[in-house]
Amino acid sequence: MTDAANPLLTASALPYGLPPYPDIRPEHYLPAFEAAFAAHRQEINAITRVRSMATFENTMVPLEESGALLDYVGRAFSTVSSADATDAIQEIDEELAPRMAAHGDAITLDAALYARIRMLHERLDDLALTPEQRYLVERRYTVMSRAGAGLDDEAKKQLSEINTRLSRLTTRFEKNLLADTNELAIVITDPADLDGLGDGEVSAAARAAAERGLTGAWLIALPLFTGHPWLASLRSRDTRARIMTASRSRGNRGNEHDNRDTLREIVRLRAARARILGYDSHAAYVTADQTAGSPDAVSELLRRLAPAAAANATREKAALQAQIDTTDSPFPLDAHDWSYFTEKVRASRYDIDQSALRPWFEAERVLQDGVFFAAERLYGVTFTERPEIPSYHPGARVFEVREADGTPLGLYILDLYTRDTKRGGAWMNSLVTQSELRGTKPVVVNNLNVAQPAPGTPTLLTLDEVTTLFHEFGHALHGLFATVTYPTFAGTAVRRDFVEFPSQVNEMWILWPEVLDNYARHIDTGEPLPGEIVARLRESEAFNQGFATSEYLAASWLDFAWHSLDADTAAGVTDAAAFESAALSDIGLDDPAIPPRYASTYFAHVFSGGYSAGYYSYIWSEVLDADTVEWFRENGGLTRENGERFRRRLLGVGGSTDPLAAYRGFRGRDADIQPLLERRGLTG
Ligand SMILES: [Zn+2]
Repeated sequence: MTDAANPLLTASALPYGLPPYPDIRPEHYLPAFEAAFAAHRQEINAITRVRSMATFENTMVPLEESGALLDYVGRAFSTVSSADATDAIQEIDEELAPRMAAHGDAITLDAALYARIRMLHERLDDLALTPEQRYLVERRYTVMSRAGAGLDDEAKKQLSEINTRLSRLTTRFEKNLLADTNELAIVITDPADLDGLGDGEVSAAARAAAERGLTGAWLIALPLFTGHPWLASLRSRDTRARIMTASRSRGNRGNEHDNRDTLREIVRLRAARARILGYDSHAAYVTADQTAGSPDAVSELLRRLAPAAAANATREKAALQAQIDTTDSPFPLDAHDWSYFTEKVRASRYDIDQSALRPWFEAERVLQDGVFFAAERLYGVTFTERPEIPSYHPGARVFEVREADGTPLGLYILDLYTRDTKRGGAWMNSLVTQSELRGTKPVVVNNLNVAQPAPGTPTLLTLDEVTTLFHEFGHALHGLFATVTYPTFAGTAVRRDFVEFPSQVNEMWILWPEVLDNYARHIDTGEPLPGEIVARLRESEAFNQGFATSEYLAASWLDFAWHSLDADTAAGVTDAAAFESAALSDIGLDDPAIPPRYASTYFAHVFSGGYSAGYYSYIWSEVLDADTVEWFRENGGLTRENGERFRRRLLGVGGSTDPLAAYRGFRGRDADIQPLLERRGLTG
C-alpha cells in the first residue's frame, strides 16, 4: 500500500479536519502510525540538530508543531478503540500500546532536546515571552524533568528497569483481577434467589449464564467496585451476602490470581522510583505536579472530611437498623444489607421511585432543551445537527457549534448508545484539539452507554443518565471553548485533580428551575415534572451521602496510605490486609458495614490504571465545583454574563496558566470548602 492510498496520510477534506472514517479501514492504522512515528522523530531531530543557542522560536515552536500527524492518527484511532473496538481494532491496540509508550519515552527522555529546554528554562527571566510562552517552557521542562530526562545514565537505566517491571506488574494486576472477577461471578440455579430484580435484569442474568454455556441458570457478574447495583433490590439476603463476599474476596483468595504480592511490589517499586527522582514517596512525586502540591494538603483534606462523613454514616446506619427491626426476624445490619434497606428508607421518606421518573426524561428533549439550552443561555452558543458529515459510527451524531454571532466554533459528536464494541462507562475525548499555532478548531466526542430502546420507541433516561450527560457535556465545553496558542495546553489538558471541576459544575443546571422546566416534559402529556417531585428530589440530594462519602474517602485514603510509604518502609510491609485495616482504622473509616469502594486487591484505578496517589482528585475538584455553584447562585445563575466570565477565565485558558491562579481570577479569591461541606452534609 502506498502512502497516497492511505486515507490517514492524506490531508482531511472534511470540515474541521475530521478524519475520513468511511474510507479508513483497520489495516490503514498501523502503516499510518509507522509514518507518524518516523515523521515525529525527524521533527525532533531537526530541533536538536540546530547548532545555535536554544531560543523559543527555534525550539519550543517547532516542538509544539511536531507530532501533528501522530496526534491526528492517534486521536482518530483512540476514538474508535474505545467506542467501536472491533476484533481487528483490538488487535492493533495490543500491538500498538508498547510501541506508543516506547516512542513517547524516547522523546520525553531525549537528552539533546532536554538540554535545549533546560537552557531556556534557566534564562526564562531574560527572554521576552508572553505568559503562555513562559508557562510552556516551565511545563515542558517540568514534565521532562519529572520523567527523569535530567538523570545520569546509571539512574536512567535503573529508572527504565523499574518502569519495565512496573508495566509488567500492573498488567498482571489487571489480568488477575479480570480472571478472578470472572471466576467469582455468582451462579444462581433457583429463580427465587433473584426475587426483587426487574424482568430486564433477570433476562440479562440468563443471557450471561447462557454465554458461559450454563443452562437453567442465571449469572450475576461483578462490577469493578465493591457493591453491586442489584444489592438495592435483591430480596434474598443470602444472594446479597454471596455477591458481597465474592466481590470482596477478589485478588486475595490465595489462588493463582492473588494480587497481594503484586501490589506490594508495585508499591515498593513506585517508592523506589520516587527516590531516584528525588522525592520521599510516590505520593510526594505525584502531588508535586498537581494543584494539591503536596501529600500533606491531600491528607489534610481527607482527614478533615472523614470524621463528619463517618458520623453521618453511623446515623444512616441507625435508621437502616430501625427499618430492619420492623421486619419479622430482625438481624444486625451487614455490608450486603446497606443498599437494600437504603432504598426502603428512601422510598418511605421521600416517596421517590427512580424508574417512574423516566417519562419526563426523553433523551432528545434532555439534549436539545436541557443540555444545549443551558449552554446557549450561558455562552450564547448554538448547536446544529450536520447529518451529512460522517463520523466513526452511524450511532455517533455530529453537531456544529457556533458562537452567538454565527462564527463556527467546532464540532460536538454525541454517541449515546451502548454496543458490544464500546467500553463501559461514559467519557469525553478530543478528536481534534484547538490550537492557534496549528490553526485547528476543536472536535470533541461524548460517549455514554444508554441501552438502545426497541425500534420505534423513544429513549427514556434515568436521572443518573441525565446527570452523566450533563457531566460529560461539561468536559466537552472545556474542549470546545479552548483559546490557546499551543496544542500542549488545549482544553482538558489540565492537572488530573482539576479536570473534573468543569464537568461537575455543569451538573448544577440539571435541577435548575429554568432549565428543568424547559426539558423535563412528560413524553405523553408534555406536562412539566410536578413541583412536589422536584422538591423531594432536591431534599433527597443529601440522602445516604454519609455512606457514599465514607466509602469514597476510604478508597482514597487506602490509595494515599500505600503511596505515601517511603522506599524503606514499603519494603517492610509484609501483610497487605493488615496494612489496609490499620490505614482504615487510622482515619476512622473502618466500620465493617461500610467497606471501601475499592479494596487494595481490586483497586484497578491505582494499581493498573492512571490514578495512583490520585483517587483523591474527585473530592479535590468538588471543592472548586461546590464553591463555583455557590458563585453562580450568588450572581443570578443562568446568565450570559456569568457564563462569559466562567468561559473566559476558566474554560478557555485550558492548561495554559496555573489552574489555581485561574480560579482566583474567576472567583476573586481561593476556593472555600464550606459549600462542599454543606452539599455533602458534613458541617457537623
Ligand atoms: Zn468526568
